[in-house]
Amino acid sequence: MAYDSNNIFAKILRGEIPCNKVYEDEFALAFRDINPQAAVHTLVIPKGAYVSFDDFSTKATDAEIGGFARAVQATAALEGVTDSGYRLLANHGKDANQEVPHFHVHIAGGEALPEMIAKT
Ligand code: AMP
Repeated sequence: MAYDSNNIFAKILRGEIPCNKVYEDEFALAFRDINPQAAVHTLVIPKGAYVSFDDFSTKATDAEIGGFARAVQATAALEGVTDSGYRLLANHGKDANQEVPHFHVHIAGGEALPEMIAKT
């Protein structure tokens, strides 16, 4: 699947639409999910143009992958959920109901979570 540079997260990265930013560095941007499914629900996206986890892990450089992982950790720390715990979730493709075709990790926490996140 080719990257669609008109997807909503690409527009957020370009500053064309606003986001509630939590963290940013050279590799990643983190912002609050617009439709939170938990007390803390924050998205972390790489700055590079990758469709999904599969695309990212196949094509991104080691620096981008490492930088992204560190950004996820930093975001969770800023959200105050490192000690209380959190869940990381990434939807890839149709069966996972991926909605936005720019790779992103969901950080969910801030409360006791159900055993798995149910997505409607
Ligand atoms: P996914 O199904 O993994 O692609 O999830 C996409 C997520 O992006 C959903 O949880 C949406 O609520 C969230 N989302 C969509 N548009 C925005 C936006 N403009 N700002 C923040 N979160 C968004």
